[in-house]
Order: sequence, then C-alpha cells, then structure tokens
Amino acid sequence: MTKASSPKGHEGADQDQFLTILSREDALERFVAALFPRHPPSEQRMLSNTLGCALAQNVMAAIDVPPFDRSNVDGFAVRSGDLASATEFMPFRLMLNDEVIACGVVPSRPVLAGTATPIATGGPVPRGADAVVMLEHTQPSGARTIDVRRAASPGQFVSYAGSDIARGETLLQAGTIIGSREIGMLAACGIAEVLVARKPRVVVVSTGDELVQPGEPLPPAAIYDTNGAIVAAAINENGGEAVFLGAIPDDEERLEAAIRKALGESDMLVLSGGTSKGTGDVSHRIIARLGQPGIIAHGVALKPGKPLCLAVCDGKPVVILPGFPTSAMFTFHDMIVPVLRRMAGLPPRPEAKVVAKVPVRIASELGRTEFVMVSLVEGADGLIAYPSGKGSGAITSFAQADGFLRIDALADQMPAGSEVEVTLFTPHVRVPDLVIVGSHCTGLDLVTAPLARAGLAVRSMAVGSLGGMASAKRAECDLATIHLFDDKTETYNTPF
Ligand code: AMP
Ligand code: MG
Repeated sequence: MTKASSPKGHEGADQDQFLTILSREDALERFVAALFPRHPPSEQRMLSNTLGCALAQNVMAAIDVPPFDRSNVDGFAVRSGDLASATEFMPFRLMLNDEVIACGVVPSRPVLAGTATPIATGGPVPRGADAVVMLEHTQPSGARTIDVRRAASPGQFVSYAGSDIARGETLLQAGTIIGSREIGMLAACGIAEVLVARKPRVVVVSTGDELVQPGEPLPPAAIYDTNGAIVAAAINENGGEAVFLGAIPDDEERLEAAIRKALGESDMLVLSGGTSKGTGDVSHRIIARLGQPGIIAHGVALKPGKPLCLAVCDGKPVVILPGFPTSAMFTFHDMIVPVLRRMAGLPPRPEAKVVAKVPVRIASELGRTEFVMVSLVEGADGLIAYPSGKGSGAITSFAQADGFLRIDALADQMPAGSEVEVTLFTPHVRVPDLVIVGSHCTGLDLVTAPLARAGLAVRSMAVGSLGGMASAKRAECDLATIHLFDDKTETYNTPF
C-alpha cells in the first residue's frame, strides 16, 4: 500500500505500442496447441471423495447385482407349478417349511412340491422355489399351513441374480462424471475406490499494491480483492482444485519468489492484475523467464480483456487475467475454462450455454471480440438476453447477469432480434419468476424482498422508464416501472 504506482492506461492507446494484439481465435489456438495433446494424470480416490470427478478408466462389475435371486416382497417362496389352479374361491394349501428367510439369512432347506417358506423382502429365494407370493394373497389355515388365493407365474416377485448389473458388464465408461447415481452403482458393486482424472491444482494469485483481503480493514485508496475469490471458485466449478495464495504487491522480487514456489507444486497458475506493460506491471516479465516456450499471447483483441496474457511454462499453463473483475471473468470463462476442463479430463460444458434472443441492438467496436454481460428472462418464445453491463469495472453487473454473449470481431453491431449463444457464469441458471424492467426506486426492494423470501426469483432491471415501456411492448417483462411526466396533461404516468 505504500508504493506509489505511476499512472498508466489499462486498455488505452499508450499500451498498443507495446502489446502485439492477436485475435481471440488465434490466441486460443496457439495456447491450446502449446498444451495438448497431453495425458491427464489420474489418481485413486475413495468413492466418498469422487463427486464431480471424471473416471479415468472403464469400470467393470466384478459381481452380479443382486448377487443372488432375491424376493421383492414379504410373502412365501413357492413352486409356481403347485399353484396353477389356485383362485380366490379355490385356494391351494401349502405346508410351511421350518425356517424363515429374513434379509441376510442363507436358506438351508429346499422348497419341495406342496411346500412354501416364509420370506422377507430382500431375502434369498431358496432352492426349489421359482416364485414368491405376497403375504396379502395368503391366509394362515393351521399352525403349519397357508392357503394361497392366487396362481403364481414363474419368476413372480423375484429379482434374478445379475438382472440389475451382470458380472463382467462395463458399469461405467471412462470420462463419466461421477454424480450420486454413479456413486450408487459403484457402491452396489462393492467398489470402494476408483481411478479418476486428477484435478489440476491451480494456484491463484492476485497482484496489486491496492488489494486487501475480505475481512480485513480497508485503508484509504485500497480495494477488496475480488478476483482471488471469484477465480478460485470458478476454477473449482470447472474441475480444478484452486489454491489461493492471496494478493501480492507489485514487487518483482517477492512476486517471482512466490510464483516460482507455487508453480513448482502445481499444474497451472492464474494471476490477475498487472497485465499492462506499464511500470509496476511486473508479472509478464517474471513469466517470460519461468520456462519454455513462455509467453504465447500478450494482448488479445477482446473487449474488455485486451491485456490478457497467456503463457506455457514447461508444459504448465500460466495466465494473467486483466485486473478489472468483469474482464477477468469474461476472459477466464472464454479462454481459460476450455483449457482447464481439458486438463481435468472433463468434456466441454454444453450445459453452460443457452441460446437466447437479444431484444435491442448492441453496438460493438470493430476489430475486437466483444463480451456483453446479459440477464436472461423468459420471453413468449424462448429466452431473451438483456445486455446488463455497466462497463468493465462494475461488480454490480454480476449480481444481475446470468452470463455473457460474444460479438464477433468483424461485426460492428449485433442487430435487435439476433439469436445468440450465451455462456452462463454458472450452469444452474434459474430464469426469474417475476421480471420487473424500468425505472428503479428503493421502495421496489421493499415490495420484492418478501416475494424473494417466499421462494420467488424476482429480477428487477433498471433501464429507465422508457426502456421499461419498450420492454413491456415486447412482452419481456411482467411489470414495467415508470416515472414519466406528460407535459400536455401535466400528469404523471397515466397518459403513457
Ligand atoms: P491492473 O491490471 O493491475 O492495472 O488493474 C486494473 C484495475 O483492476 C485496477 O483498477 C485494479 O485496482 C483492479 N484490480 C486488479 N486486481 C483486482 C482484484 N484482484 N480485485 C479487484 N480489482 C482488481
Ligand atoms: Mg495492478
């Protein structure tokens, strides 16, 4: 906090003379080419510790499931042939064998013609029996006999050994993401450990003299470190294991020592801040001497996100994200997530993309791939993506935004009505139940808070009164909030 840093342009013209700008596609292609193909390392993990991991090899079932012929109901194990003529009016009498098969009990007597053995749900069907009759369809008729009021078909209420999973069957394919269902299947086969792709260890470092960690007091001119927390969480969401080192001041020696130590113990390094080539921006100089081939792209035609720096140091990806949190997020999701997921043995994340229509024209700078933050609402025929950015420095846009869309470098605008792919920040986006678009008033929060407490997802977007009316005309919102004065009638709102 003590060092004075000289003023510098973040994405301004003074930087262009230093950065060689690559297109987004070029930069990504070179980055990927320097990293792949590679064999993702794998590790043995206890089943309870595999949620979200990708299987590194096919898993075979070593046993039948169920392991024995099993009763599905409480009742009696019988020979179906005995009961061919049994009906409600002419029940058939069977002698009870002298054992009761509860769960976990191995039957000791066979079921001979004319006999039955009491059996519980889950009990092993004894030899000789080929069906089970339900308790409800029988009647005790003496100390050791029952009357059966229905015929039984062979196999009735029996799950045969291996009918669920057969021994030798491929239970799960390599690459499967392990969820609770998969854990259940593995547990049913008695498998306690599996080989999974090892999660890449990703070291996260924020850089900047002005950064303090949440929870600490905020000195004058300081700001809280946002990127550290958000990047670490996004890494964990995408198959990595983030190790957050905190914020390190722009001090070349200290930063280099920390980076070298961290990289030695990890698979990937994500820095943020200090990507420009101004004085005080030292990260790229350190990275240039960390390992081969070194910096692959420093300066990408992205808006925001131009100063993104991509490097590969002795096989490990090293990136410097732009300092502005929103720029850091766009570039991370667009350029880093694909690489991270591939290293983690995970497939691309199709569920993190949705198709939506943009309701308004969005202007865009020619020559740079432009990211636009959007909020999603349900339209009459599909999702609508509302641009919600407030410039690359605004954190509040995150609260409203579900994801972002990309405008091609060669386009100078995205026309209203365009269908676009939206990359979601988190895959489980919930489209709001109630959408309020228009002018904002703090009183609105008092109205929406109880709705939110009742479980309704309410989204209010402040785009001004006229924007609210336009949105209502396009049927994109449930309510448009307006404060409009009509000169002619000298009244508020009603004429509109
Ligand atoms: P820089 O690229 O270091 O010049 O940073 C650009 C802008 O992003 C500056 O306003 C920084 O204060 C801000 N910034 C950099 N790192 C972070 C961070 N980790 N959290 C929040 N803001 C940051
Ligand atoms: Mg900085």
